[in-house]
Amino acid sequence: MRDLYTLEDLRDWKTVTAGEEPPLKLGVFGDPVAHSRSPQMLNAALEACGIPARYCRLHIRPEEFAEAVRLLPQAGFIGANVTVPHKLAAMNAADTVDEHARKIGAVNTLVVEGGRLLGFNTDGPGLMRAIRAEFGVDLRDLRIMVLGAGGGAGRAIAAQCALEGCQRLVLVNRTFEKARQVAGELASYFKDPRVYGPSHRLEAIPWEEAELAAQLAQTDLVINATSCGMKRTDPSVLPESLLQANLLVFDTIYTAARTPLVEAAQAVGARAANGLSMLLYQGVLAFEIWFNRTAPVEVMRKALVGAS
Ligand code: NAP
Repeated sequence: MRDLYTLEDLRDWKTVTAGEEPPLKLGVFGDPVAHSRSPQMLNAALEACGIPARYCRLHIRPEEFAEAVRLLPQAGFIGANVTVPHKLAAMNAADTVDEHARKIGAVNTLVVEGGRLLGFNTDGPGLMRAIRAEFGVDLRDLRIMVLGAGGGAGRAIAAQCALEGCQRLVLVNRTFEKARQVAGELASYFKDPRVYGPSHRLEAIPWEEAELAAQLAQTDLVINATSCGMKRTDPSVLPESLLQANLLVFDTIYTAARTPLVEAAQAVGARAANGLSMLLYQGVLAFEIWFNRTAPVEVMRKALVGAS
């Protein structure tokens, strides 16, 4: 199996992959995609369950995406994952989109069923499972701040928090207008006046220190969905001076076990986790959609950690 395949390969998939045993019947479409750890995680699961199929990376550019997904049935695929920048295009390309994915506004998992494509979203539910696994709490019980709420991951996370009926949701984005737009889209989920005094249950705030400090005083869980922290030299997206020991801090970044934000949070005594468990559970849920059976979570976790 090669590290990367392309649209050209997909056009003649059966010839290009002839002799591959087990056959390549699943994959992740992205641009870029070379860094994806999904093959390690999902191939470990397929092998552990004795399923005769393998999972590969496909480097598909935006202008190639529509043709690429249409080729999946004839190439003999069971399904695919879709990552940056194709999650919205995948929603438009699917013949049927699951209700939850439609509400989230993005598709990251496709199932091939009799020549048709069904679309699902496991990013939001994956985050929910990750928060439960890392901190033993549920989104619905929490006051949550999402940093980077206007980005692709941030929007899905904010929508999942809204769908779960979290207590409060504060949306922050460097480009404020995007946070305001997401708040507008989610407003209908926060009509019910749950308690927290005079505070609104849903707010979009500009990225300003005084505003962040005031909101953090009414926050249980901070989720970083920005890309700030992906590079080792990046600063913590929130400075230590804004963090407190009673906060739960979840960084969706998983390029390091201790990201700059995780380090800053732990330095003030807060509980903090990186995004590996979100990656794990979105894969677990995709596996369960494709095969209608329980995924081998521990095998997948080990493979992910080993791939880092
Ligand atoms: P994206 O659509 O490009 O969004 C990037 C977001 O980061 C935007 O909100 C952007 O703000 C913000 N941003 C970038 N640099 C910033 C800075 N220096 N300070 C403050 N905000 C900054 O990217 P994405 O696909 O949503 O990915 C975002 C992050 O989520 C990445 O770190 C990725 O690793 C992570 N992620 C994790 C998982 C997982 O399973 N754990 C899954 C998906 C994504 P503007 O709108 O102002 O540009």
